[in-house]
Amino acid sequence: MKITLAYGGGGEETNKLINDLFYKNFKNDILVSAEDAAVISADGKLAFTTDSFTVSPLFFNGGDIGKLSIAGTCNDVAMMGGKPEFLTCGFMIEEGLSFDELERIVKSMSEELKKVGAKIVAGDTKVVPAGSVDKIFINTSGIGRVLKDNISAHNLKPGDKIIVSRDIGRHGTVIMAHRYGVDTDLKSDCKVLWDEVKALIDEGIDIKVMRDATRGGVSAVLNEWSKASSVGIEIEEDKIPVSDEVMGLCEIFGFEPMDLANEGTFLVAVSSEDAKKAEKVLKRFNDKASIIGEVVEGERVVLVSPWGTKRVIELPKGELLPRIC
Ligand code: MG
Repeated sequence: MKITLAYGGGGEETNKLINDLFYKNFKNDILVSAEDAAVISADGKLAFTTDSFTVSPLFFNGGDIGKLSIAGTCNDVAMMGGKPEFLTCGFMIEEGLSFDELERIVKSMSEELKKVGAKIVAGDTKVVPAGSVDKIFINTSGIGRVLKDNISAHNLKPGDKIIVSRDIGRHGTVIMAHRYGVDTDLKSDCKVLWDEVKALIDEGIDIKVMRDATRGGVSAVLNEWSKASSVGIEIEEDKIPVSDEVMGLCEIFGFEPMDLANEGTFLVAVSSEDAKKAEKVLKRFNDKASIIGEVVEGERVVLVSPWGTKRVIELPKGELLPRIC
């Protein structure tokens, strides 16, 4: 069965899609009450974000556009110390997408939501004529209560340590391999990071800033932080965890792992007293978690080789690989 334009027409077919697919998989009281807007109660500070997902291919090793659309938005809420709670989602579907593929995507979204205990409380579906979008694009917005305040890219001070939560460059490498038809067992790191963040908060770690290293990779995050806090950052090259598979594929394609997108990997900066403890907490989730460098006086991001030579890491330029997320 294929999705036709009628499924976006607001009539009988649309209702069928909503009832048989979306309500069934995203079931919760707020959504199925089917009002014009979700009414939620909240007090205290909230983190609120939105992101659109256009990844190609739709299904990749370690995930799919559905899982990505939940992880991506939940992670941005989590990076601000917020527990992802309520999401909205908008589907833009190209006529002709198979119902089975849409169902796989929706089921995968539902699974990922369950892991973090978040709910989709409002949604929208549009079906557009063939050629207007490529198969399916998804937008999700997310909101969550902030459990740890004052996390900001402007907080960095010389002496703070930078920790990466796991080995880098997986998502970008997997998408690249699929695009170029290279066979690989490598899996995307795509996942919701709330458990890791909650553990850091629960252990009382002095978190200065967190950011998931999505488009632009670790290089982009470090450059954004350096600029926002007007500080330099020194990274020790041999401390950066990169898997052999990512390293190998990057050599073939001529990419730099630090520039490649991740979808379940984050950087956190903490005070130097808390660095070892924070690294230990993150190692519970992935043993590749590692302190990779520190904040220094200055204004550049510098990579220090094991021989002591230094190289400036710039913000990645241009579009390395479109439609990665
Ligand atoms: Mg982010």
